[in-house]
Amino acid sequence: MASPRIALMGMILESNRCARPATLADFESLTWLKGDSLLAEARSGAPALATEFSAFVQAMDATGAWTPVPVLLAACHPHGPVEKEVFDAYCTEILAALDEPVDAVYLCHHGAMVATHLDDPDGELATLVRQKVGSDVPIVQTLDLHGNISDKMTSAVNLICGYRTNPHVDMIERGEEAAFSLRRILAGLARPRVAHVKLPLAPASISLLTAAGPYGELIDYGQKRQAEHAGTILNVSIFGNFIFSDVPENGVSIVVTARDDLSVAEALADEIATMAWQMRDRFIRSLTPVKEAVAIATNSNRKPVIFSDAGDNPGGGGSGRTTELLSALAEAGAENVFYGSFFDTELAREAHKAGVGAHFTARFNRTAGTQTWEQWDAPFSAEATVLALREGDVTGRLGIFAGRRLKLGLCALVEIGGIKVVVISDRAQTADPVLFEMFGLDIATAQTVVVKSRGHFRAGFLPWFPPQQVFEIDTEGLTSPVLERWPLARVPRPSFPLDADAGWPGASA
Ligand SMILES: [Zn+2]
Repeated sequence: MASPRIALMGMILESNRCARPATLADFESLTWLKGDSLLAEARSGAPALATEFSAFVQAMDATGAWTPVPVLLAACHPHGPVEKEVFDAYCTEILAALDEPVDAVYLCHHGAMVATHLDDPDGELATLVRQKVGSDVPIVQTLDLHGNISDKMTSAVNLICGYRTNPHVDMIERGEEAAFSLRRILAGLARPRVAHVKLPLAPASISLLTAAGPYGELIDYGQKRQAEHAGTILNVSIFGNFIFSDVPENGVSIVVTARDDLSVAEALADEIATMAWQMRDRFIRSLTPVKEAVAIATNSNRKPVIFSDAGDNPGGGGSGRTTELLSALAEAGAENVFYGSFFDTELAREAHKAGVGAHFTARFNRTAGTQTWEQWDAPFSAEATVLALREGDVTGRLGIFAGRRLKLGLCALVEIGGIKVVVISDRAQTADPVLFEMFGLDIATAQTVVVKSRGHFRAGFLPWFPPQQVFEIDTEGLTSPVLERWPLARVPRPSFPLDADAGWPGASA
């Protein structure tokens, strides 16, 4: 094949069942790109789209001739289920583009999408693409490690490369891996198939970190076994699931791609699943109560700390506008606190109008919503001073957003007592110190940093905060990791840890 035609497409959404549904406008405000503009963005210096997508394109560019067929990449911030009309519009576009034959397809997905009419739209899309291109055209796919994997998905594609790090910092490697493997497939060196084992183990994201702990050990074990089977296994991916999607596909998934022989992949997937099941008791973590967090923050005789506002992580569908922790810290008179980032366009606009140095009453959530997903976005008012203002994009520096352009709109830094609060106009997870540094703040000078992020901040803030200086605070909001609080209706039951007596038939093997 002199210059294989590779279709590039994907729909990226992590759906929190309880959050507001994702609309076309949500996608258009982040990524809804096709044709030459999609390709140009993927090849740009600081792409605003999914890093693995750019990495795939750039790795294909670097490894020989190819003819990219840039169909459509749709992505939005974590939200609720995607609206049916948006999903249908996406399907129509990609299937029409595949009327022209291609030699392979790259699917760039998150894997934890829900649609208002479907529990497994990722599986549905993979199946539709497979039906359209036929059984001989290779399909390779990248997925986030929080994917809720289905048999429908794994049986439709030839290769799955899931992230192996949480915080996610290996998107470039996974995009490249998919491209390099595709080159091998196109050269006739592999005819891969994907094996999948699902466990009745559905932990909250908070126990799915990879630097240490059971999940990291499992992933390391998978990589060790993959290296030992280098002649027969192309990829081992272990998906932690995204519990807030609340779908029948929830649960840890072991996904192994065999070079040719599916039975080898099935045996390895069983082996890793057995190990994961034996470790299930370790997938439980406890949080720091808000009261205790306030006590830590008001004690000046200690090392600097960072707090995760765990219940309100925009990266998991959180609104980015809960006030529980902010108001508790303000009322307690906490000093030398950096707090970020509060998503409130109206407040940012008012600060801009007032100007630097102005004193005003900062009213957070002045237009409190009445929807169920807005119930934790309580109004909060405090006397504040405008310290700094800015507008426009910023490029990530450390961790998950490194090198990626973030759209933040109008931003303001306001001071409430001893708390410096970053206000932004597009909902973003505070996983990168740049969200403070863009105002000239030096993280090293803070006694307490509070971030609206559940886990990804660990990579961005590691230079200042080793694990023993990190606290996950039990705050309310759409991403509270206390599963008992959620009306989970579709997660398979029994599942551990929701059901302490959950069993797995494969455990006896
Ligand atoms: Zn993820």
